[in-house]
Amino acid sequence: TSKGINNAIEELGQKYKDIVSSDCKAFSDFPLSSNTVRGLKAAKYINPTDIQRETILLALQGKDVLGAAQTGSGKTLAFLIPILELLYCNQWTHLDGLGALVITPTRELALQIFEVLRKVGKCHDFSAGLIIGGKDLKFERKRMDQCNIIICTPGRLLQHMDENPLFDCNNMKVLVLDEADRCLDMGFAQTMNAIIANLPQKRQTMLFSATQTKSVKDLARLSLKDPCYISVHDNC
Ligand code: ADP
Ligand code: MG
Repeated sequence: TSKGINNAIEELGQKYKDIVSSDCKAFSDFPLSSNTVRGLKAAKYINPTDIQRETILLALQGKDVLGAAQTGSGKTLAFLIPILELLYCNQWTHLDGLGALVITPTRELALQIFEVLRKVGKCHDFSAGLIIGGKDLKFERKRMDQCNIIICTPGRLLQHMDENPLFDCNNMKVLVLDEADRCLDMGFAQTMNAIIANLPQKRQTMLFSATQTKSVKDLARLSLKDPCYISVHDNC
């Protein structure tokens, strides 16, 4: 019932305030919606990695996050779980359009993230889209206004922003910049700046990067507000 859902959401909001990272050994210790808990369980994710624990707790509290983390540290769930929870708590529906945007440097990474989202988000009722080069632009174009969560590569996204009248990000609540250093290394700095300039100012942003170069810091300054820094080392 909608009353039941409202109560569940209110309870989660209360719990966000008191959570302590040391109490969160397993995903079941986190204040998460039962839909997400079931998705994680079905995919056999039991305990969070370090970057997941820290990022999820801060992100649930509405903070912007700058995560320094290597490949393999588990960044995907670190941002997908907060995305699912934020949309759930906002009772997001198909009618609300785009709620979360994940930008990642390559098609392969986008596809991997999309697959994890499909698994972990399967008990939620959100629509997700993959916007990457090499697919039929017309097909993508028509479906874009129906996506609640978009996983994309920078060039393709900007192309939609510029050319597609159905692309509307005015409602968007969360931006994730995955592997930001690689995006910049691949020459996407201008593209990323242009994308960010098109997004609503009032949003939550998570930026992940293995290295902290000057250009990453510039991008962080442009995209994040008062971020919390999370650093995770190689062998954690
Ligand atoms: P990154 O994006 O930081 O390179 P991924 O999110 O792709 O890392 O995760 C790396 C690997 O670790 C994947 O195979 C993923 O399934 C696995 N993994 C991630 N989080 C967990 C977890 N909490 N428990 C077990 N395995 C995990
Ligand atoms: Mg990754």
